[in-house]
Amino acid sequence: MELNLSPLNLPGIEDKRPIVIAGPCSAETEEQVMNTATQLAKKGIKILRAGIWKPRTKPGGFEGVGEVGLPWLSRVQKELGMLVSTEVATPRHVEACMEAGVDILWVGARTVANPFAMQELADAMKGLDVPVLVKNPVNPDLELWIGGLQRINGAGITRLGVIHRGFSSYDKRLYRNLPMWHIPIELRRRIPNLPIFGDPSHIGGARELIAPLCQQALDLGFEGLLVESHCNPDCAWSDAKQQVTPDVLDFILDKLTVRNTSITTESLEALRRQIDECDSALIELLSKRMRVCREIGHYKREHNMTVVQTGRYTEILDKRGAQGVLCGMGTDFMKTIFEAIHEESVRQQIDILNK
Ligand code: PEP
Ligand code: MN
Repeated sequence: MELNLSPLNLPGIEDKRPIVIAGPCSAETEEQVMNTATQLAKKGIKILRAGIWKPRTKPGGFEGVGEVGLPWLSRVQKELGMLVSTEVATPRHVEACMEAGVDILWVGARTVANPFAMQELADAMKGLDVPVLVKNPVNPDLELWIGGLQRINGAGITRLGVIHRGFSSYDKRLYRNLPMWHIPIELRRRIPNLPIFGDPSHIGGARELIAPLCQQALDLGFEGLLVESHCNPDCAWSDAKQQVTPDVLDFILDKLTVRNTSITTESLEALRRQIDECDSALIELLSKRMRVCREIGHYKREHNMTVVQTGRYTEILDKRGAQGVLCGMGTDFMKTIFEAIHEESVRQQIDILNK
C-alpha cells in the first residue's frame, strides 16, 4: 500500500534542515515547562516537545502529569509563539490534544509495536488535519513501522513523518537503543519523501552522545531532530541522564555541519553502513564455517585421521582461487584469504583432537 503524503507544512517553520523539536522528556510542572520553553525560544527553537502521558517500563514511576499539563502547552503557544508537540497513545489522548490545540502529535515506540493500539489511534484520528510523527517500534521491524504509518495514513493523515529513536536490545552497551542505521536508510529508500527526525536522546540515553548522534542523523540526510532539553536536567522526573539544558543544546546545534542532501541514499555514511553489514555477515559466515570444521574435527578424531589432508587443501585453494578471480578479485588476495581461513580451521581441529 502506497502512502499518500503531503508536506508537514508546520506553520512558521522554514523548510530548512534540520527542523528542531526540543523540550523536556516530561512536562512536570507549569513552571518547569514555561522556564524550559522560554529558554529554548530565546535560542531560536520554534517547536516544543513535552510528554504529558509517559509510558514507563514498570508501574509506580512517574507516568506523566496527564491532562492538567495541556493548558501549560497552550501557554507556551500563546506567550512564546512556539508550536507544541506531545505523545499520544490512546484515543482519549488524541481527543484531549485536539481540544487543547496541540500542533503536532507523535506516537511512541511501544505503541507503534502494537497493531491493535495503532489501529485504535488511527480510528481516533479520522478526519483530523494534524501532523503526526511515528516513532520506530521498539523492535527492529521495518514492516511493523511501515504498517503503523499505513494505518495512520489510512485514517486520512497525510502530514506524516517518522522519528528514529533506536531499537531495544537485551544487552545495553554504548547505546540505550541500538541505532541500526540501515533500518531508517531502507525506510528512506522505500518511502523517499517521508521526513525523518533523529532522536539522539533516546538512542544514546546519555548527554555525551547527543552531539555525535545529531551529526550522524544529519550526515544521513534526516530532515529533523527531536532532542530532550530540560531547564534542570539532573532533577528531571524522567530520562534525567539524556537531557541537556537549552544552553548546551544551542551549543550542540551550533556545531553541527548540515550537508547537502542531493545524494542522500548514496552518501558516504550510507555506503559505510552497507560495508559494516557486509563485514558482519562475513564474520557470521566464517563462524559458521568454523563450526562445521569443528564437526569435521570430531569425525577425524573418532576415525583416527590426520587433521591436514593435503589433497583437499589444494582443491580448496584452486577452486576458490578461480572463483575469486571470476568475481573480480586478485589471485594473491584469494590465496592469502584462504590460507588464513585454512590455518584457523586447522588450529580449531587440532584443539579438538587434543581434547
Ligand atoms: C519520549 O519521547 O519521551 C519517549 C517515551 O520515547 P520512546 O517512545 O521513543 O521511548
Ligand atoms: Mn524520554
